[in-house]
Amino acid sequence: MKRIGFIGLGLMGTGMSKNLVKAGYQVTVWNRTASKMKPVVETGAKAAKSPKEVAENSDIVVSIVTDSPDVEEVLLGPKGAIHGAKKGDIYIDMSTISPIATREIAAKLAEKGVEMLDAPVSGGVIGANNGTLSIMVGGDRKVFKECKPILEAMGKTITYIGGIGDGQVCKAVNQILVGTTMLGVAEALVFAKKAGVDVEAVHAAVSGGAAGSWQLTNNGGRLLKGDHEPGFKIKHYLKDLGIIAETAKADNMPLPATSLVHQLFYHCAAEGMMDKGTQAVVIAIEKLANTKLVE
Ligand code: NAP
Repeated sequence: MKRIGFIGLGLMGTGMSKNLVKAGYQVTVWNRTASKMKPVVETGAKAAKSPKEVAENSDIVVSIVTDSPDVEEVLLGPKGAIHGAKKGDIYIDMSTISPIATREIAAKLAEKGVEMLDAPVSGGVIGANNGTLSIMVGGDRKVFKECKPILEAMGKTITYIGGIGDGQVCKAVNQILVGTTMLGVAEALVFAKKAGVDVEAVHAAVSGGAAGSWQLTNNGGRLLKGDHEPGFKIKHYLKDLGIIAETAKADNMPLPATSLVHQLFYHCAAEGMMDKGTQAVVIAIEKLANTKLVE
């Protein structure tokens, strides 16, 4: 059985690494804040002192940290995994980062004979803990097939998209859909409120029809209770909007709907709402409409 290294024990990585231990893999973990390794070590993982040491003790290294510079640091930085890598190792980055940066990192790893997959996820902390994530994978198809059992220990829907970076493009697509749908939900519910109708009844009526969606049911439902807590934090979504904008710019791809979403999330940032959930974008619409959804 392959030895697995795991870098990044945040909200997502903790549950994901525990699921690898549960599936019977020998797992070596590292986290910048060392105290976060304890709960995973208690389930049977070994703790390493650096990403380099993780790599020295592993055949496959999984990373899930915050953004592109963070992946560069843990994989390629002075104490990065690359310094402990062996020819034939495989690195799977599951963070949500730039497809462009992903391809650059993969090229540097390839110089050392290391293959890379990009495998960003959707499904949140609940999906990470329960092993039910959706995982979208880019990289060599043969390497993907070799790694599929490992991904299956962490996720339920595992989809091969294409070459390296293509998993991140797919995740960007997911985030375009999440944001544009969320803004539509917020706008529609405030519209109903301003028109003076029973918003709860409207929500129930439209949720089951052609306009129904996960965002309408779940985040729309939260908005009706005045619940703006995360779920998925605005500060993380703004990072993802930056990735989408960078990718679109490289292709001269206009994004009229997503650009509007981006501007309204900047408004949320200016209002000090970085740690609120994405559904809190309703506040921007409420201000424009001079109407509160929930009094
Ligand atoms: P998180 O709880 O904030 O954890 C971030 C992790 O990255 C921590 O382990 C942190 O270490 C580590 N890290 C960040 N910068 C680093 C650096 N420069 N060097 C070393 N370690 C570094 O975030 P998360 O929610 O687990 O998210 C991780 C990734 O998954 C992000 O790309 C996010 O967009 C994506 N994602 C998140 C969700 C979600 O619902 N949370 C859903 C889908 C995808 P410390 O503990 O030392 O800070």
